Amino acid sequence: MIRRIAVVGSGPAGLTFARVLHRHGHPVTVLERDASPGARPPGGTLDLHEGMGQLALSKAGVLAEFEVLSRPEGQSMRILDTDGTVLRDWRPRPGERANPEIDRGQLRDLLLGPLDVRWGRSVTKVVPGTRDGVLVHFADGRQDRFDLVVGADGAWSRVRPAVSSATPQYTGVTAVETSLDDVDTRHPDLARLIGDGSLAVYGVNRGLVAQRNSDGHVKVYAQFRAPLDWQANLKRRAGLDRAGAQAVLASLLPLFDGWAAPLLDLLRRGTTFVPRPLHVLPVSHTWAHVPGVTLLGDAAHLMPPLGVGANLAMLEGAELAESVATAGDLDEAVGAFEERMWARAGRWAKITAAGLERLVSPDPAQAIALFDEVQRS
Ligand SMILES: Cc1cc2nc3c(=O)[nH]c(=O)nc-3n(C[C@H](O)[C@H](O)[C@H](O)COP(=O)(O)OP(=O)(O)OC[C@H]3O[C@@H](n4cnc5c(N)ncnc54)[C@H](O)[C@@H]3O)c2cc1C
Repeated sequence: MIRRIAVVGSGPAGLTFARVLHRHGHPVTVLERDASPGARPPGGTLDLHEGMGQLALSKAGVLAEFEVLSRPEGQSMRILDTDGTVLRDWRPRPGERANPEIDRGQLRDLLLGPLDVRWGRSVTKVVPGTRDGVLVHFADGRQDRFDLVVGADGAWSRVRPAVSSATPQYTGVTAVETSLDDVDTRHPDLARLIGDGSLAVYGVNRGLVAQRNSDGHVKVYAQFRAPLDWQANLKRRAGLDRAGAQAVLASLLPLFDGWAAPLLDLLRRGTTFVPRPLHVLPVSHTWAHVPGVTLLGDAAHLMPPLGVGANLAMLEGAELAESVATAGDLDEAVGAFEERMWARAGRWAKITAAGLERLVSPDPAQAIALFDEVQRS
């Protein structure tokens, strides 16, 4: 029997789900709000773990291509003191591929492969339990029906309300993202400072992280505790609809007062600044199973960005696709998958919530101790 299966969202969760189903010969409809793959910048680099993201890619049949594209040298990690002293400098051993990095855009293109995505299809609402399956409403007024709708539409999921009333809550930490291009030629001093992978610096209740992407692109994240309306206040003070780069930088630099000049240059030389207040869903978010609808990835368990969100999203996508592909009873298979997903995601939600408290903490030694523990494990 052909089942009508749709996944909402073409992020790591949705594309992995669709690609694994496709590999099993099952048709799947991918519904994506963006008008095209290049509609917006794809975001920074992701490290894909051996037993999670890489396992999912292997289930999708694209691990060999990932190995060609990914950057094992990106596993390098350097921690500096706020005065610029190097406190830790970890480099991967030759051949180590536990957590190589890949640009999000490269990962998206790798997973897209033969998939037929319906671009520009913004889902507004999903109604389960209608006479002919699950009804999907789109922003342009269209409607469509499916036997299974998988919500892989991220933090602010429009599918989630069909199964749960939970909404993301602010963690109290805001990250401001900026970036540097052609770092090796235009900013060789910063290129040397960052090294081949990531650089992190932790002060009292704040942190600064710089991560190499491919082609000399670097993403820089300034993290600090701030009220949720930090960005709105900034706009009000600047008297602008949008706070311009100079206004954001002028508010940002005093937060890092006294830090070594080269560290501040990571911010000063940035061009655009995007504030991202970090939100999370409740730890151990579950719901009463609703036939015909489920969630994956950030839509199911949004957590602080500590290097597991995309990995979990992909592994879940692959596992759900395998369950669906071999299921006799579709609903039973989805229900059993949800139990497994909740147990694993709940463990990671606790770990990452505690991790964020230690990374952006009144005691910066906590952040370094956290890295020491991760590097040992
Ligand atoms: C700064 C930062 C750094 C991070 N670094 C890492 C890392 O190194 N490793 C890691 O594992 N994780 C990392 N994460 C977490 C990771 O980005 C997320 O967990 C991951 O992207 C979740 O994937 P997803 O597919 O569930 O959702 P998303 O990636 O958010 O994808 C959702 C998709 O759904 C689409 N969509 C949304 N609404 C609709 C709608 N109504 N209709 C149709 N389509 C819709 C969106 O356009 C998007 O394409 C990081 C997060 C941040 C913020």
